[in-house]
Amino acid sequence: MINTNRLFTSFMELCAIDSEPTSERLMADRLTDILTSLGFTVSEDTTGSIIGGNAGNLYARLEGTAVGDGLFFSCHMDRVVPGLGVKPRIDGDYIVSDGTTVLGADDAAGLAALLEAITLLKQNGKDHPTIELVLTVAEELSLVGSRHFDTSQVTSRIGFVLDAGGDVGEIVLQAPEHIKFSARFHGVSAHAGFSPEQGISAIQIAATAITRMGLLRIDADTTANIGSISAIGPTNIVQNRCEIEGEVRSLVPAQAISHMATLTEVMHHGAAEYGGAVTIDTVTSYQAYQLSEESEPVRRAAQAAASLGIPVRYKSTGGGSDANYFNARGLPTVVLSCGYERVHTTKERIPLRQLELLTQWVMALLEGGIAA
Ligand SMILES: [Zn+2]
Repeated sequence: MINTNRLFTSFMELCAIDSEPTSERLMADRLTDILTSLGFTVSEDTTGSIIGGNAGNLYARLEGTAVGDGLFFSCHMDRVVPGLGVKPRIDGDYIVSDGTTVLGADDAAGLAALLEAITLLKQNGKDHPTIELVLTVAEELSLVGSRHFDTSQVTSRIGFVLDAGGDVGEIVLQAPEHIKFSARFHGVSAHAGFSPEQGISAIQIAATAITRMGLLRIDADTTANIGSISAIGPTNIVQNRCEIEGEVRSLVPAQAISHMATLTEVMHHGAAEYGGAVTIDTVTSYQAYQLSEESEPVRRAAQAAASLGIPVRYKSTGGGSDANYFNARGLPTVVLSCGYERVHTTKERIPLRQLELLTQWVMALLEGGIAA
């Protein structure tokens, strides 16, 4: 059924297109061409200019040939760095990069599976439901592309995001709340040799606060991390400024909020102890969601996998995806595993068999959409 040659070739072609976050122009153009030739109406939003990128999110729509609910699918067009000049090749049972870049299977696997499934539907003249595709930019920058996507144009009631590691058949039911924070510690500068007692070291305040913070794994649902600390100056000056950036995540939103409150308190106490100050900004980058096994998209995904004899496994994830935004905006959307491994590393790879299974899963979902 599946033309594996065509599937692997199209997957590798997509991997080879330069498409780092906010530089998805070539990918967006290529996908627009392919989708247009498959009969889709494709439009691009203005997200690119809003976020300082060279391409916007694509919305593509193919009217159904049969009565039934429309389905929407989503993948992201960007990949993490280093993602330029990817040279994909088949190595035994896997497709790999040359080891100097990521492969970009995250998320080209989802894109290639969708394109092959739809190509087959058209080729075989099979009936299909209305298919909507939302192909986002800058997913890897804290989902900034989908944050700006207008979901009101999507008419399908449920959707599938093809964007998770793990074996095909694994279904993500839960994803975390994500809070980002930045803190600026304020001290008083002074000469470090002549009069250090007149200074208040912002670096010392930050260091004290950080050692008292609960970081990394907090509990089964919650994590926290400091990603950067910055204060640059000569050694003979007591630094009056130091900045840190960090994040808190939790599958339980209340726990993310309460841990962020604890970190805030620790930073204020640390600053007060030294007679300094701190200003803290927090932003909820995306909201948590949880889908039940009985929810429509999960049931459909499980049925489709079972119809192929693929074992179904439910899981939660510590990472966000565009589904966080779709769910927050009232579009029940489930994330499906795509079979890729070692994501976000230069050892990223995908088993050929998983790419095939993913394509079959998408086909089964599209065929199930008609009967419903
Ligand atoms: Zn991804």
